[in-house]
Amino acid sequence: MSDRLLRHIRELGEDQLPAYVYDLHQLHEHAAAIRAALPERVQLFYAAKANSDPRLIEVLREHVDGFEVASGGELHHIQAAAPGTAVAFGGPGKTPTELEQALQTGVDRLHIESEQELRLLTGLLGEQTTAVLLRVNLPIALGPVALAMGGQPSPFGLDPDHLDRCLALIAADDRIRLHGIHVHLASGLDAPAHLDVARQVLAWATDWAAEKGVQLSEVNLGGGMGVDYTRPGTRFDWTAFGSGLRRLLERYPRLSLRIEPGRSVTVYCGWYVTRVLDIKRSHGHAFAVLRGGTHHLRTPATKQHDQPFDILPVDTWDRPWERPEARDELVTMVGQLCTPKDVLARNTPVERLRVGDRIAFSLAGAYAWNISHHDFLMHPAPHFHHLDHTPVPVPAGSHP
Ligand SMILES: *Cc1c(COP(=O)(O)O)cnc(C)c1O
Repeated sequence: MSDRLLRHIRELGEDQLPAYVYDLHQLHEHAAAIRAALPERVQLFYAAKANSDPRLIEVLREHVDGFEVASGGELHHIQAAAPGTAVAFGGPGKTPTELEQALQTGVDRLHIESEQELRLLTGLLGEQTTAVLLRVNLPIALGPVALAMGGQPSPFGLDPDHLDRCLALIAADDRIRLHGIHVHLASGLDAPAHLDVARQVLAWATDWAAEKGVQLSEVNLGGGMGVDYTRPGTRFDWTAFGSGLRRLLERYPRLSLRIEPGRSVTVYCGWYVTRVLDIKRSHGHAFAVLRGGTHHLRTPATKQHDQPFDILPVDTWDRPWERPEARDELVTMVGQLCTPKDVLARNTPVERLRVGDRIAFSLAGAYAWNISHHDFLMHPAPHFHHLDHTPVPVPAGSHP
């Protein structure tokens, strides 16, 4: 956590908690580093579904080649937040209205998920032409991954042996240009695992194209770059990934690559900050009840992990009774919801935690607020703060 962020969190009024605090400067630097690590022939798209906060999109548009959207709503939102930026439209179950919206607003690629989708598209195209990628569910050895989406029964993409019928439809319609292949097979991959997937995908795609007489100009490798919630200080190795892709691309001089990460781009810039309302013991076990909960930050419930956090001690206590605290013990951090699933972190060792202390959950910038069930129990929504990406000089003497 930067000094600036820490100061901001400490200065938030009691009535401003819970709050999401986005460090836009962190995002700016992180996205610039990702871009710098990638070869020129790799286009960087950001998957908007990870977090489509307009202020984040505004920062990211300086660094990315475009955005990947997966609904008409996201398409509209991104075109408003980052007008003029390239947009790729993917995702299953596109409606005719959404396809029409995509055609009218000139998205740069449509990722085709099924034969029926291609047929719908054919029916909607008038005079115009469009560039498509076929999304393929490739049987690729992935090793142990957090969330495998390919190579097994899946609602996403086309099995390789269903591609021929799509090729026939495309060949019969000169308004549709097949640009290449799209895959998004897993999430939670580290750089060596992702490079291994890339190697296998490119080998498959070029063999397939040669066999079918298809002119392949682009392969989209999807997202899924890993985020380690158990070790918040570690990062996906973008430098190793970038140089691995550079070496790999030497074998494919005419091919351009795209990637469309989401989580690994925005996760580190977001913090969910709240305070301890109560500390209690039940059957020998300590619970800290926090303002807010998984209706604001659903990530630990969906991913079944402990959300990492920092404790920001608050020394003032003006109640006439003894301040409840936990000391050198395991504490389970829960929210205000009346369900045992409202757990943010389980059995976490703490040195000292008191009622009134602040808690800042890190890695809350992706699949956090926007995937949460906000209205459950009707508690108020959190406040949102964006630390500007032009760093404000630290006033002299404000910290050691
Ligand atoms: C969700 C998704 C992404 C982004 O995945 P991350 O794990 O957030 O990097 C990219 N492409 C597709 C098709 C997706 O569905």
